[in-house]
Amino acid sequence: MDTKIFIGIGSNIGQSFENCKTAIERISSDKRADLKSISSFYSTSPVSDVKQDDYINCAVEIDWQGTPLDLLQFLNDIETSMGRVREEKNGPRIIDLDILMYGDGIIDDDRLTVPHRELHRRRFAIVPCIEIDPDLIHPTLKKPLSNFLAEIPPDQQVTRLEGINY
Ligand code: ATP
Ligand code: CA
Ligand code: CA
Repeated sequence: MDTKIFIGIGSNIGQSFENCKTAIERISSDKRADLKSISSFYSTSPVSDVKQDDYINCAVEIDWQGTPLDLLQFLNDIETSMGRVREEKNGPRIIDLDILMYGDGIIDDDRLTVPHRELHRRRFAIVPCIEIDPDLIHPTLKKPLSNFLAEIPPDQQVTRLEGINY
């Protein structure tokens, strides 16, 4: 069975690019995770009312031997190990690891909503995913992920970083 799992990675504190790379290394070093693909890195404007620096964002596609909640716990543990402290909502962060899609899975748990509830409203989340797989369909909204880009306000800026790769 081929479940395409997409994790969104973001950072806007410290060495943001290095922080994203460190998170990818930690994801891929766990034996339950099989790293299938890494997107380009993007410089993105914050989608938040809190004034803060631009982000570096990317996405990875993985296979995962475990449950979705195991994956959430694993990602939360990586965030904590990298020094993430949860302060104000949508404020700056060293690292953020979100489960954007879990194949065509639909999960509505207190701890985990899949697809990520904001995925279709965020250019910084959609663009790296469709770079990896242009044909992704949003499992609940049942439209190609790429279709949502036209509805996203232009002030959400996402710029691919040429020549900066994992
Ligand atoms: P946003 O969810 O808008 O991207 P955020 O990433 O800043 O905001 P966090 O503080 O990182 O929010 O996460 C809050 C909680 O969201 C987590 O503790 C987790 O239980 C929950 N959560 C629900 N769905 C998901 C998901 N798909 N991926 C990651 N966390 C999720
Ligand atoms: Ca997030
Ligand atoms: Ca998060």
